[in-house]
Amino acid sequence: MNTPTPTPTTTAPVEPQIPSRSEIIDRYAGRAPVQWGTEVAGVVSTLADIPGMTSVGRPRVALTFDACGGGGAGDGFDAALIDMLREHRVPATLFLNARWIGVHPELAAELATDPLLAVACHGTRHVPLSVTGASAYRIAGTASVEEVYDELTGNIDWFVERTGEASRYTRPGTAHCDEVAAAIARDLGMPVAGFSVNGDGGATFAAAQVRDTIAGVRDGDIVLAHMNRPGGGTARGCAQALPPLLDRGGRVRHAVTVSRST
Ligand SMILES: [Zn+2]
Repeated sequence: MNTPTPTPTTTAPVEPQIPSRSEIIDRYAGRAPVQWGTEVAGVVSTLADIPGMTSVGRPRVALTFDACGGGGAGDGFDAALIDMLREHRVPATLFLNARWIGVHPELAAELATDPLLAVACHGTRHVPLSVTGASAYRIAGTASVEEVYDELTGNIDWFVERTGEASRYTRPGTAHCDEVAAAIARDLGMPVAGFSVNGDGGATFAAAQVRDTIAGVRDGDIVLAHMNRPGGGTARGCAQALPPLLDRGGRVRHAVTVSRST
């Protein structure tokens, strides 16, 4: 008879208990998606999609800013935007792609330690999440369950090491996915964070457009904008739109889907 091996005790950070690659492959092999886009089943598009997110009697909005990487303008850093968020104490979630982190390792680590900000996964290769190779904006997506798994988990260690936990949400490159990939992301403990307000038109809006778009947010909205285009209108538009929102109810700064701040 074998002697039971004692379970070792440790004080080391707990590794996230996520399903293995083979488990996910077994679970989703042969599943054929029927939805494609930014609002498929399983995507968190508004705060109402988050279980347990109850009303607190004042409007709440989540601000999210993507850092996409990939060279050129994608690798930029909008310091004015982050400075403005800090000045007004506005929480936000920063979706960081592995390529962007690779260009800005020290900056990314510093952002991850700011309790005002939450960092979350914006993919490894920054591709749409598909189990069939669907594309968006001419960017080919992942083409299998295996590739979805790898895109979602390829950078997970960075988040565990910097924040003590895996990313709580993920946003695919281009924000597109199918519902099978969205289900896989949920199984991995990082549901796909979509959006209900396109705050900066993919970092193409002028400041006035950003201002007017964000000024129109409603309770429960998730705003998507970018933090990697310092030459764009995002920072100035946010700087114009956010203070009046904060004054109105005092609390658009509750703004958090994913943030550790409240
Ligand atoms: Zn992106």
